[in-house]
Amino acid sequence: MKRVIVYPGSFDPVTYGHLDIIKRALKICDQLIVAVSTNPIKKPLFSLKERILLLKESIKEMKNVRVEKFDGLLVDYLKRKGARIIIRGLRVVSDFEYEFQMVLTNRKLDEEIDTIFMMPTESYFYLSSSLIKELALLGADISRYVPKFVEEKLKEKISHAKSQEKTF
Ligand code: ADP
Repeated sequence: MKRVIVYPGSFDPVTYGHLDIIKRALKICDQLIVAVSTNPIKKPLFSLKERILLLKESIKEMKNVRVEKFDGLLVDYLKRKGARIIIRGLRVVSDFEYEFQMVLTNRKLDEEIDTIFMMPTESYFYLSSSLIKELALLGADISRYVPKFVEEKLKEKISHAKSQEKTF
């Protein structure tokens, strides 16, 4: 039987930290599904379609991984995909409490679902999509943290947002 693992997240936008986790996860499964959440609560900068496109471009050289959107309960999505393992990245200690809550909540919803945590390479420990957005807004060089096309798309977004602001 094929081992399918689901890697859920907002990916707003995808960073080298996410890609590091994807590569590690591919070593322990037959098929990895990167599940992009619609997540209206988080008010993402990039639309769902944009986040999916950037991810697809980032993984185009990799095998056994695909990108999909998901909404609703993650445990229901896993069931539909015939998966019972979630993969999440664990960076600094501050990730821990939220992730701990999520594991327990998902377990209450479905006892069969388990979560595996993976740590990225050290240089991505402090990397997050929010940090990238802040750095880009301040005009910092983010080329070490995201693929070129993500950097370009971010710059576009920011200059568009700034030009919109001027009209108010
Ligand atoms: P969410 O809103 O679900 O936290 P994110 O896109 O922020 O979505 O993160 C998705 C997953 O990727 C989470 O498990 C997060 O810990 C992990 N992740 C994000 N950035 C990194 C990174 N730099 N290194 C390792 N894992 C990361």
